[in-house]
Amino acid sequence: SRSGRRSLGRPSTTSSGACPGIAGRSYRDICPILKDPGALTAVIDLFEEHVRQTHPQVELIVGLDARGFLFGPLLAQRLGVGFVLVRKKGKLPGPTVSVAYKLEYGEAEVEVQEDAVAPGEKVLLIDDLLATGGTLCAACELMKKQNAEVMGCMVIIELKELNGVEKLKPNTLFSLVQY
Ligand code: IMP
Repeated sequence: SRSGRRSLGRPSTTSSGACPGIAGRSYRDICPILKDPGALTAVIDLFEEHVRQTHPQVELIVGLDARGFLFGPLLAQRLGVGFVLVRKKGKLPGPTVSVAYKLEYGEAEVEVQEDAVAPGEKVLLIDDLLATGGTLCAACELMKKQNAEVMGCMVIIELKELNGVEKLKPNTLFSLVQY
């Protein structure tokens, strides 16, 4: 409904960032982080610390459409490595490689430019949130299709009850907040 759509876009009135109404569960909104420079710096600090301690050999940060694009480039700049976009189908110019996957409702496809990742390149994937794990799992497959070495996945928010971490295996997940 129109009112349902509007409620998704509204800032949360609760401190946890929960809004009513997506697929029968709370929608977790990361927009307040972007609005608060201190919070955004803290988020990137935490990701940077994790990567420097756990994956210092990383060569590329791979961000997922669309909110992975908000945090990935900031992190990549801090680390002094490049950033690559994994987009929803039909958005990238030039030859692409794609992987199809299931959503909570329906299906989707993710794509990367064919020459974006070199064989053997060490990559870390980033998105705002892990729900069922389908999106990050498809992006990991995409990286493997390009013979990249997936070192792990990172999100701000992990929705534990949907058990996306299991779907991601053997790829690992680092999350800043769990619900
Ligand atoms: P999954 O594929 O089921 O893990 O869903 C994760 C993808 O859907 C991510 O790209 C998220 O940006 C988006 N998503 C799903 N649920 C939410 C939510 O509650 N808040 C923000 N993004 C969400």
